Amino acid sequence: MDSNRAFAKTVKGKVYLVGAGPGDPDLLTVKAQRLISSADVILYDDLVPAAILALAASRAETLSVGKRFGAKGATQLEINARMIESAHRGLAVVRLKGGDPGIFGRLAEEIDALEAAGVPFEIVPGITAGIAAAASLGVSLTDRRKATRVVVVTNHQAAGDQGAGKTDWRGLIREDSTLVIYMPGHDFAALRRDLLEAGCPADMSAAIVSRASAPEQRYLFTTACELDKLPRLDSPAVLLIGRALDGARRRSSAEASLALDEAELLLSSL
Ligand code: SAH
Repeated sequence: MDSNRAFAKTVKGKVYLVGAGPGDPDLLTVKAQRLISSADVILYDDLVPAAILALAASRAETLSVGKRFGAKGATQLEINARMIESAHRGLAVVRLKGGDPGIFGRLAEEIDALEAAGVPFEIVPGITAGIAAAASLGVSLTDRRKATRVVVVTNHQAAGDQGAGKTDWRGLIREDSTLVIYMPGHDFAALRRDLLEAGCPADMSAAIVSRASAPEQRYLFTTACELDKLPRLDSPAVLLIGRALDGARRRSSAEASLALDEAELLLSSL
């Protein structure tokens, strides 16, 4: 650790591990915006939209290192090597990740690599997708009348993780929990079964939010029991489940039936 720190002084460049937020450039932190516009090199994930990359200086080298939708992106080792090599050249490197860099973003592996190479780095937090989704839904994840905890979890585990492949929902599901599920996948019939088997109340409110904060954002409310009936929305999407969503779900179905009444009235007046 100490020898790394001493060595770090000899590396002139620096790596900034920066959260780009959920998509809306207005939701960047001021610090992220400043670092993006002054960086020499930007290594960005697929989730980072063009509107944010447009903030980069024209002299900056911008490189996509994403690997979503099965496309062949850079490997983690290649990303690490590129960051380290650029820092050794004395450059300011921004490693730009969607949302918050520390939430399901392989940040820990990058920190380990930078530390091992003695490269100075700094982490700049960002607004994570689940928090942006809650804001879009008009929900407080910790509504004190309904929830005492928020569980940030993924329905997708990388091979090699403990208990690879399947999330263990028992213990996560409680009346007073709000679940924020990243990478929920598309098999909502299986997810519904797993959740109900783990003790999730059938009438627990749920909502899916696709492309939170982007102009294409869409969301739908449902219940745990009816999860399998949700239509498939565009990726990326997060799923929220919990009593804290009850009020927003009621408001949304009241609005929907009002819209239906208005449509019927319009039709009958024709
Ligand atoms: N570091 C990111 C998460 C990366 S994992 C963050 O903090 O937000 C990728 C998953 O994040 C996606 O599969 C999806 O579940 C979620 N996600 C990212 N951006 C999103 C967005 N704008 N709207 C909805 N979900 C999003």
